[in-house]
Amino acid sequence: MQDEPLSLATLLRHAMTAKADSEVTTWTGSEVRRMTYAEVGRQSGRLANALRALGVEQTDRVATFMWNNNEHFVAYAAVPAMGCVLHALNIRLFPEQLTYVANHAQDKVVIVDGSLVPLFGPLLPALRSVQHVIVANGDPSALEAPAGVTVHGYDELLGTQSEEFDFPVVDERMAAAMCYTSGTTGEPKGVAYSHRSSVLHSMQVCTTDGMALSERDRALVIVPMFHANAWGIPYAALMSGASLLMPDRFLQPAPLLEMMAAEQPTFAAAVPTIWTGVLGQLAAHPQDITHLREVIIGGSAVPPSMMKAFDEEHGVRVVHAWGMTETSPLGSVAHPPARSSGDAEWEYRISQGQFGASVQARLLDDEGNVVPHDGESLGELEVKGPWIASSYYSPDDTAVEPEKFHDGWLRTGDVGRITPNGYLTLVDRSKDVIKSGGEWISSVDLENAVMALPGVVEAAVIGVPDDAWDERPLVAVVLGEHANADAEALRTALADRFAKWQLPEHWAFIDEVPKTSVGKFNKKALRAQYADGQLDVVELEGPTPR
Ligand code: AMP
Repeated sequence: MQDEPLSLATLLRHAMTAKADSEVTTWTGSEVRRMTYAEVGRQSGRLANALRALGVEQTDRVATFMWNNNEHFVAYAAVPAMGCVLHALNIRLFPEQLTYVANHAQDKVVIVDGSLVPLFGPLLPALRSVQHVIVANGDPSALEAPAGVTVHGYDELLGTQSEEFDFPVVDERMAAAMCYTSGTTGEPKGVAYSHRSSVLHSMQVCTTDGMALSERDRALVIVPMFHANAWGIPYAALMSGASLLMPDRFLQPAPLLEMMAAEQPTFAAAVPTIWTGVLGQLAAHPQDITHLREVIIGGSAVPPSMMKAFDEEHGVRVVHAWGMTETSPLGSVAHPPARSSGDAEWEYRISQGQFGASVQARLLDDEGNVVPHDGESLGELEVKGPWIASSYYSPDDTAVEPEKFHDGWLRTGDVGRITPNGYLTLVDRSKDVIKSGGEWISSVDLENAVMALPGVVEAAVIGVPDDAWDERPLVAVVLGEHANADAEALRTALADRFAKWQLPEHWAFIDEVPKTSVGKFNKKALRAQYADGQLDVVELEGPTPR
């Protein structure tokens, strides 16, 4: 067979010719800006020429500080295709983390959305490697350039460039893109995706048992493009010709639903907290969303009650998926086996899903022994495969957290069980597991059960220190506007699903669960709030001490 390198430039060429009429569309709050993939190809040529004219060379990092929109998609397409590395900066990181990340990645150019200039401007003087900033969708003069940095307007810069660019064939193992994990401990860690891993991952996203993306889809990409490359959907779109709908900065439930009504997406992807808001909005303002053939939810465990609400109240199928920044991110997807039905089918659907053919998984117990895939034995999940990271990016080749990688496997830090037919069920992050009297209590199981109770909007469970039991669960609950359930009633409602010693006695009623920069429950922040005495905790009677 021919040893043709796998390349994102090949995907771009395919999209701009074979899928020329597919579109990327950005919501502006009331209307849309559309661009065909033919035009994405032409703009990519202009952007590549402009970057080259600024002195950007192969392997240089070109960062983005942008919402999900047309210009961001063009950067996604053009930067890797010209042999450079696209680095989508997480706009929600703290300033010190952002500065760290941009300096660590040695970003040379940053493309910034005009609306984000007020956020980006103060960071710029501390970005050591940045030479050029390109302001898209806004006024470049609003950005004050420190010495050594030149600021350009996107339209002016690209306007003078030719749309023809001879995208080179690069080594398929070269980095094409990178994302930093928003890790809750230590500095953020960089993951570099190669052309090879990105193309193989796109194929997986497009498979029927992945996200089944095709030219017939209009995919609403709510997951930010800085969160694990928007779960690989933009590159899968270049491969399949799926059209993309980009919400830009309009990420609240009301504008998202307005965009859905106007643009009728067939597919959407986001973390659970986004869908909690969408369900709340739909309850108050009913709207037909059956144009969605499927919604992929992942990034944190999807409460089964959320899947049921979409299924039963809105006629929309939710597909649960698991992944990490380190796994590109698609690891497993919960399509049930063909011949399953009833409760068994449901059990498969609420699991974290089945690993694709190219992802191998194993579970290790506390002593490092591999435990069987019998659907019961618990262990820490390790994975390997062609789109799984083998190390974190390091500018000087000193290994970053080498303990996360061993014998060719990635340690995920997730604890769960796997069935003989390869379906994963996670019970916790290893650092979130609650150890009570030597036994594990799954915070995820408790959260799912509490979030299924009437009146509960969100619930996050953490372990808090306990003299008799080492740790006991604390439930932080957000109630709906008119709900008035109390701790005793909530706990009683859990009694038939959990052993007595697992039932939580600490309850805090809060206005909002703190969230991470990618919209997940931030349990570290919740633990800190508890430790600082900021939570008003209702104490029920706990299990009888041993
Ligand atoms: P990140 O790289 O920031 O997206 O974080 C990856 C982590 O998110 C994983 O290691 C899991 O702990 C968590 N995660 C992702 N998807 C799921 C899921 N479907 N259920 C439970 N946890 C998940």
